[in-house]
Amino acid sequence: MQIKPAARLGLLPPYLFAELDRLKKEVQQKGVDVISLGIGDPDLPTPAHIVARLQQAAAEPVNHRYPDYEGLERFRAAATEWYRRRFEVALDPRREACALIGSKEGIANFPTAVVDPGDIVLIPDPGYPVYYSGCVFNGGEPYFMTLRRPNGFLPDLGAIPAEVARRAKLMWLNYPNNPTAATAERAFLQDAVNFCLKHNIILAHDFAYSEIAFDGYRAPSVLEVDGARECAIEFHSLSKTYSMTGWRVGFAVGNAELIAALGKVKTNIDSGVFQAVQEAAIAGLEGGEETLQRYCAIYQQRRDLMVGALQRLGLECERPRATFYVWAAVPRGYTSASFAERVLKETGVVITPGSGFGKGGEGFVRFSLTVSSERLNEAVQRIQTLRL
Ligand SMILES: *Cc1c(COP(=O)(O)O)cnc(C)c1O
Repeated sequence: MQIKPAARLGLLPPYLFAELDRLKKEVQQKGVDVISLGIGDPDLPTPAHIVARLQQAAAEPVNHRYPDYEGLERFRAAATEWYRRRFEVALDPRREACALIGSKEGIANFPTAVVDPGDIVLIPDPGYPVYYSGCVFNGGEPYFMTLRRPNGFLPDLGAIPAEVARRAKLMWLNYPNNPTAATAERAFLQDAVNFCLKHNIILAHDFAYSEIAFDGYRAPSVLEVDGARECAIEFHSLSKTYSMTGWRVGFAVGNAELIAALGKVKTNIDSGVFQAVQEAAIAGLEGGEETLQRYCAIYQQRRDLMVGALQRLGLECERPRATFYVWAAVPRGYTSASFAERVLKETGVVITPGSGFGKGGEGFVRFSLTVSSERLNEAVQRIQTLRL
């Protein structure tokens, strides 16, 4: 029999990193010690008190059964209490919060809850690829909002054509941003909420990097903004904050109808987050600020090391206030891919071509700071030998 995958799989973009993966293997086969700054996955361990709580909770039989799809009430209360402390935003844990199997799960499922075939979804470009796949898997029509450097990598809302705004159902934003490491002021979030309310668009804010911030910067939540409760949902992750990418736990908060719609999709697709993981996540949300601060200080040091080296090489890049990425313009005469290839061939360091995050990322590369400081030092030493 001939297997024919669904047509929607054909809507996914070609895998742009295939050539780089091949080259990486080739370089490794030559015996080069390859350092990957390609992936955004923290090397720092999950804080010990969170691990200890999982160990304890895993032994409790009450946690071995199917969890509630929307999350333990205590987990949701810990999430909303954390929002109250961190952002002075009051939320009802029963109606305005929902547990997620990592925020990616919620981001991927949310369009199923709100997007009908033919609806336009406004997607930042460059951006996290799941906004696009979630859109096209549900018959949505993507409209790319290009993030440009002169605009601080914020979308130009005024440039969205009236007809597009009229047909748009959903807008994705993500600040602090992956891949550009840009941050948004509260005034921009207010503009976005006003725009969405005016045009009847649901605003979904991906807030995965809210706590990875430097130099005293505190990222604002979209829910702090006037009118956000009417149109917005925020996707929050424990992955980056507490180095818990493998644990798969996050949550969504915001407009109660949007939370209920997402919950309806989830009851039909998954069966919630392992309760012992929720217990451990509660321990994370309820304390351990010192570890968090220590981790941010480590990322900040790595950022300074990398930004310093890139600027000495003459690459243009900002010193980011948040995220564990550095986003740099490639030198004249290169594309994102050709520069990433040259860096890999000559130094054995893997970096991500910006074009892998969409056309708008062309001309940039992303350096991830999630390897040990020792390895990062080594990578920086090697990169500094490049003659550009
Ligand atoms: C890492 C990441 C996520 C997903 O994190 P989860 O582990 O699924 O919670 C979502 N959005 C962005 C932009 C990310 O970088």
